[in-house]
Amino acid sequence: MRQRTAIAGQRRSRAIPSLGATLVVLVVVAANWWWFLSADPEPQPLGQIERLQAMQDQAVEAEHYAVERQARSAVAAAAPAPKTVAAQVSAAEVNEEPARPVPVPVSRSTVIGSGESLEVALGRLFIYGEAAREVVTAYRSVRNPRLLRAGERLWAQFESASPMDPHALMQLVVAPGRSGEGVTLTRKGHDGELSFDAREGGLPGSLSRQALRCGISGSLTASLTRCGHGAGLAHLIAPVLEGRLDLSRDLRPGDELRVVYDELVAGEEHVRYETVLAVAWKGAIDSFTALRFAHEGNSVGWFDPAGRSIEPMFLRRPVRDGHMSSPFSLARMHPVLHKLMPHLGVDYAAPTGTPVLAIADGRVLTRGRGPVAGKVVRVQHGRNYRSEYLHLSRFARGLKPGSRVTKGQVVGFVGSTGRSTGPHLHLAVKKAGRHIDPLEVVALEGTPVAPRDRKAFEQQAEDVLRLLEALDSSKTNADAS
Ligand SMILES: [Zn+2]
Repeated sequence: MRQRTAIAGQRRSRAIPSLGATLVVLVVVAANWWWFLSADPEPQPLGQIERLQAMQDQAVEAEHYAVERQARSAVAAAAPAPKTVAAQVSAAEVNEEPARPVPVPVSRSTVIGSGESLEVALGRLFIYGEAAREVVTAYRSVRNPRLLRAGERLWAQFESASPMDPHALMQLVVAPGRSGEGVTLTRKGHDGELSFDAREGGLPGSLSRQALRCGISGSLTASLTRCGHGAGLAHLIAPVLEGRLDLSRDLRPGDELRVVYDELVAGEEHVRYETVLAVAWKGAIDSFTALRFAHEGNSVGWFDPAGRSIEPMFLRRPVRDGHMSSPFSLARMHPVLHKLMPHLGVDYAAPTGTPVLAIADGRVLTRGRGPVAGKVVRVQHGRNYRSEYLHLSRFARGLKPGSRVTKGQVVGFVGSTGRSTGPHLHLAVKKAGRHIDPLEVVALEGTPVAPRDRKAFEQQAEDVLRLLEALDSSKTNADAS
């Protein structure tokens, strides 16, 4: 049809070679070309042999694709993650977008067994061959791998979800599972070369902030255990509560504890309790909210939401397990001299060797021995207060005049030196040089948050208080059991 029109046009243009005729020819040719390009070409009839040939080609092609599909799905089943990443890379290349594939982070953790080498433990994390050798080399640049102990945890982070690709290892932390930081190995570059930088520090897992609410019934540890926690958390909470409560006597059924804490987790697994940030107590004897705050210089204190110290300036008692055997008195019959004379302190009866604790932060004034006082330690607290610990059997090691002591630090051990009828501690407290009843100072408040730390404290308090408040609307853990 196209040919026929073209020939007709040629004939016409030869017969009448005018401009009008030429235009007509061009229009006709253009119209035919338009038809040819837009219309579906008419299927050409095939001969019998050609048809058979085409069928055969189609069959071969179909078989080829089927085989290829099978191979592809086999590869995908063996290693799904690298396939996904590769697909993302090629898609990005096709679209000419600079976007990098999003890595799929995965962490795995294991614990070094008794007598086990680092290499063997690495094998359990699917870190082997060149990757394992590079890890050991980097670790050795900081610490001796032979000194690794059973129970140390390896926590590895991989860039892909592949279960068996040591080349995806990005970071490895080797650290004690119980407490403290370890060694962190970090991959130098993301592509190609497998080598690691090692540095001291790093936790064997990641920190997860948690909040819990627990009804008290029995001891603190028993209550927390019933709420799904254990002695590990009780151990961190007890010193905070002890600032305000005597845990052996002041707990009542129905008292309620709320806690915000950071927990170290490796994957789904609990590794250890790391830090308690807030403790709220609602009880029959006392109710308070204590927020942890680290001042500049890292000394940690506990404060109420207004920034006042939650702990008294002085410890409740200088011996943990002793009981008060004789109170402060201005007129007492002396047990040795049998004369009426003042007892200018408090006696705590306790077995010889029981640790004696400094009742507040301070500085050691003297460490000496006298005929009446026996072995005695005197500690100055701030400008006004002084505490004295008499009749000691021995002093704490390394303690000398000028030594700094913190509240609760051991300064010596109970004894019966000097004028004494049996093992006990005589605690004396002086205010501005005059003896006062040591039980009076227990009521004194500790130092509040410093004005320069105020802003930082308030910011931190806001976050933690929000978590505590969120617990008010939740169900008590104890209710669930
Ligand atoms: Zn005494």
